[in-house]
Amino acid sequence: MILCMPLYQEIMQKEDYVKAGRIAGEVREIVRKTDWTGKSVYDICEWVEGEIIKRGAKCAFPVNASINEIAAHYTAEPDDPITIKDTDLVKIDLGAQINGYIADTAVTVCYDAAFDRLVDTAETALGSAMSMIKTGVNASDVGREIEATIKQMGFKPIANLSGHSLEQYTIHAGRTIPNIWSVGGFSLSGDSAYACEPFVTTSDGGGFVRNGKIKNIFALNSRKKTKNADADELLDYIWEEFNMLPFALRWLTKKWETQKARELLEHLVRKKAVQAYPILVEVTEKRVAQAEHTFIPQDDGVLVTTTGN
Ligand code: MN
Ligand code: MN
Repeated sequence: MILCMPLYQEIMQKEDYVKAGRIAGEVREIVRKTDWTGKSVYDICEWVEGEIIKRGAKCAFPVNASINEIAAHYTAEPDDPITIKDTDLVKIDLGAQINGYIADTAVTVCYDAAFDRLVDTAETALGSAMSMIKTGVNASDVGREIEATIKQMGFKPIANLSGHSLEQYTIHAGRTIPNIWSVGGFSLSGDSAYACEPFVTTSDGGGFVRNGKIKNIFALNSRKKTKNADADELLDYIWEEFNMLPFALRWLTKKWETQKARELLEHLVRKKAVQAYPILVEVTEKRVAQAEHTFIPQDDGVLVTTTGN
């Protein structure tokens, strides 16, 4: 009986990855087909998160709605005034989890035809990466393929953003799937799930991101008490609700009044119990497109969990 447990666990893991992927992929396809112009990033984030929950998953992280030169890590503030303009390009990156097993996927919606090819390039690079995946393929060869595809189409990959391995309740689990050719690398394992996410900018762009000033995504760093009873109550709440996964201030305002939640969160960040993630901005402020899937390598190919059909 004891000998059966690891196998049983493995099957459950895979089922949960697949279920989370089906939900995330389905929601991403609705996002792709929706006209978001005139909508606020607050409404987008809340609506997309609601769709994930409605389908029986939890959010693996706050929905990112990153506009134009912001490549990633922007989520709406509780009173966020930003709305989508009819010239914007928006990366909507969403995550679903079942028992901590994560599906991480993204789509770029674009309302300026001049940037349609930028979006196509991210999708094409993701597609060509997926078509070469199987157990044992080296991650640096995947990076080489992504880079070659993007350059062939006349664009530039973002060199310092990459895909990543996933583990239960861990989004960035240590392994990196680069978007450019890079030394080192590792063999993709059939026992692990990964996210692949090409980020693309225009040929006149720098091809790198830097940290921005805004920080509105957070994650638990340590459960060590801070000796402030209210903040420690929030610390326990974060652990119980989100484990080590990222969260947003918006997610705390059901239990705390917004200003109070903001103060307690700032206290936890100062005490290093909580980490705050800055937005990532293209260094020359050129527009960035992204596409992302989660997958499990197979001996004869790839199981893409977030296909969306
Ligand atoms: Mn993502
Ligand atoms: Mn990712």
